Amino acid sequence: MKTVPLRWLIVTPFVVLALISGVTMYILSSVTIANIANKVGVQYIKEVEGRIYDRVQDFVAPLTNIMELNINAFSNRPELLDNLTSVAGRFYEQAIPYSQMTFISVATTDGRYVSSSQNPIKKGLHNIAANFVHKPLTMEGFKYDPRIIIGDKIKSDPTFAYDPRVRPFYKLAVKNKQVTWGHIEPYYGFPALGIDLSAPIYDKEGKLLGVTATSIALIELDKYLASLDLVKGAYIFLAEENGDLIATSEKGKLYQTKDGVTTRSNLNSHSNQAFRLASQHLETGMKTLDVEGQKYLYYLRPIALKYGKKWQVGVLIPSSYHESVLASYTQSTVFITLMLFLCIGVVGSLIAWYIGKPIQRLNQVANEKDLKGVQMLPNPLSGISEINSLSRGLSSLADNLADIMQNLEEKVAERTSYLQGENEYLLENSLTDELTSLYNRRGFNQVFEQALVRAQQQEQQLTFVLCDIDHFKRINDKFGHTVGDFALVSVAMNLKKHVRSSLDIVARYGGEEFTLVFLNADIVQVMARLNSIRQSFVDHPVVNDQHITMSFGVVHVDEGGYISAEELVEQADKKLYQAKNTGRDKIII
Ligand code: GH3
Ligand code: MG
Ligand code: MG
Repeated sequence: MKTVPLRWLIVTPFVVLALISGVTMYILSSVTIANIANKVGVQYIKEVEGRIYDRVQDFVAPLTNIMELNINAFSNRPELLDNLTSVAGRFYEQAIPYSQMTFISVATTDGRYVSSSQNPIKKGLHNIAANFVHKPLTMEGFKYDPRIIIGDKIKSDPTFAYDPRVRPFYKLAVKNKQVTWGHIEPYYGFPALGIDLSAPIYDKEGKLLGVTATSIALIELDKYLASLDLVKGAYIFLAEENGDLIATSEKGKLYQTKDGVTTRSNLNSHSNQAFRLASQHLETGMKTLDVEGQKYLYYLRPIALKYGKKWQVGVLIPSSYHESVLASYTQSTVFITLMLFLCIGVVGSLIAWYIGKPIQRLNQVANEKDLKGVQMLPNPLSGISEINSLSRGLSSLADNLADIMQNLEEKVAERTSYLQGENEYLLENSLTDELTSLYNRRGFNQVFEQALVRAQQQEQQLTFVLCDIDHFKRINDKFGHTVGDFALVSVAMNLKKHVRSSLDIVARYGGEEFTLVFLNADIVQVMARLNSIRQSFVDHPVVNDQHITMSFGVVHVDEGGYISAEELVEQADKKLYQAKNTGRDKIII
């Protein structure tokens, strides 16, 4: 089975989990951020359009308010129209607070006309225009004088015949019998667009008394749109329902005059491609436009003015605006995700190290097969209870094993020394005759061979004697086997008594047959000892007054002579045989 290191087992799931959570978080945040960014874009546009809407409403409000005020006044007090000089003062005062207000006028059915008027370009220069001061229906300009209202005539002002009743504002109002919007067009002699609102004045009986009108210059709106601090690359336009422009955030003329004919600029003919594209979508709502490869978010909002007038404001912002928002959010998300990855990886590695390190130590100590290493393990080995328990278990196992081994060693030593004793005892037994305590045949062979080698090396004399009790069977037969044994012990003691214990060898060669080996003794000395043995048998009964005799076969080896052990035995045996065959109780040399 394939094995996996513990550290990998712990780290791998951490890394896989970190990957999955990182990717999931990245996808989720991308989607969320994309939505947020889009909403931010739309929100931004709506906010800008809201400001423009309010501004336009505020801007147009005096136009309708003042006009309503005046209709009210003239309808309820028709006598005011009898003295247009005081009306001029009233109009002047009405116009003063509003920089956009160009004309506030009234024209009576008998053709008289008066208005407060202001240069649409040079603000703050309010004057009075009237066509009844010096000559009927001759239009003249006057300065305002608070004492007499219509003050000095303005010299530069051209003097011309002016019958308001033929003018479009008068004719349209009378024709429509209600408040009527004029067309947006440039003021005569001034490079600025303006719009007027006119209304017929009726008395309580419904008789037409005249027409009152107000007019405002739109140049302020154009400046306002251009002054808005928008995101880079954004465009705004204010247009009529047909796309004719009223104001834009872009440079460019809002109208052209050629051969006395004025043509308004329309979205669809504007030099800015974004405006041209927008002209194809003049319905309220959100659109995405592709302007020369760049995506734009475009929103069109209507601005409803009083008396049925509808303008519309359009805002275009490049998608790169909210995409840059998205990019910065995405970067933050990626950064946070990477940091999370790193943290999870570090935490995983730390846990793997915390768990893996003590296990690795245990593994290493266990594989060294050294009990001491296991016993020397620190306690506690780790902060993890299971690992500690395992470590303690291993240590106590090692302690037990060490005890067992020590016991075993003691027992083995004890048993070894016992076996050595046994061995020595067995060895002694295997070399000694149990009955007589003399060497047995095996013991004899061992000591004799050594003695023979030594004698030959040291060139000493050696005499080998093989002797056998004569008619021993009779003793057995006569006294029984036990007594026979006793006799054998007695014979052995006699033999032993007559040899030199430190030099010579006595052995029970088998049954009632013995060997004697005399070392470093000449034959005379040997013969003396053998005869002494024989004499001892004569003198002393071996058992129950029973005397025995023995027959001897003797082989003497002189100094420097060489003969093998087998040959010595063979020759001695032959001589013993000879002694037996020739009457027993004798020594054959
Ligand atoms: P010979 O003079 O020809 O040697 O006659 P022998 O009777 O001594 O010889 P033989 O070989 O016929 O008999 C030997 C006897 O020695 C036979 C056996 O019972 C006896 N014998 C041998 N070993 C022992 C022993 O350990 N104890 C006793 N009691 N008798 C033994
Ligand atoms: Mg015998
Ligand atoms: Mg015998």
